[in-house]
Amino acid sequence: MNVHKFIVQHVKNNGKRYNMKETKDALRWEDILHFALKGNPAPDIRVEKSNAEWQSVLSAEEFRITRLKGTEMAFSSDMCHAFEAGKYSCACCGELLFDAHAKFDSGTGWPSFTQPAKLNAVSYHLDNSYGMRRVETCCNTCGAHLGHVFPDGPDPEGLRYCINAISLRKIST
Ligand SMILES: [Zn+2]
Repeated sequence: MNVHKFIVQHVKNNGKRYNMKETKDALRWEDILHFALKGNPAPDIRVEKSNAEWQSVLSAEEFRITRLKGTEMAFSSDMCHAFEAGKYSCACCGELLFDAHAKFDSGTGWPSFTQPAKLNAVSYHLDNSYGMRRVETCCNTCGAHLGHVFPDGPDPEGLRYCINAISLRKIST
């Protein structure tokens, strides 16, 4: 799907004011586009550090991916194939991002989820880098780059959060 084309259609066809109450249970692609275009929901808390501060607490690879918007190599983490119950938090700030219930095997080589742990856990940003039109996902608490979200995930919501394993920490409970 051409993301830009979809955005234009969404804006044209949705003249009425967007109602957040419609998204109480699960996010859909139109919600993702709305957040990316009109602004993200406020996080519960914000964590702000300088790049120098992040560099002092992260490994070089964690820093490259989470703070400089890098991408880990596909199939580089065992996390792709791990589906034990538990939760996934942000590698930078520790805030909860995803639940193992929403994890699925996308075959892409990156951990993949159908939904975030809660509506305001992840922020969404239009990303036109590398000649592609994509929606970048970040930790809404500290701004860490997580990966991207695509509208080709499983039913019923059809979302695929494609996330760098290095951006995540597994919490067992
Ligand atoms: Zn974070």
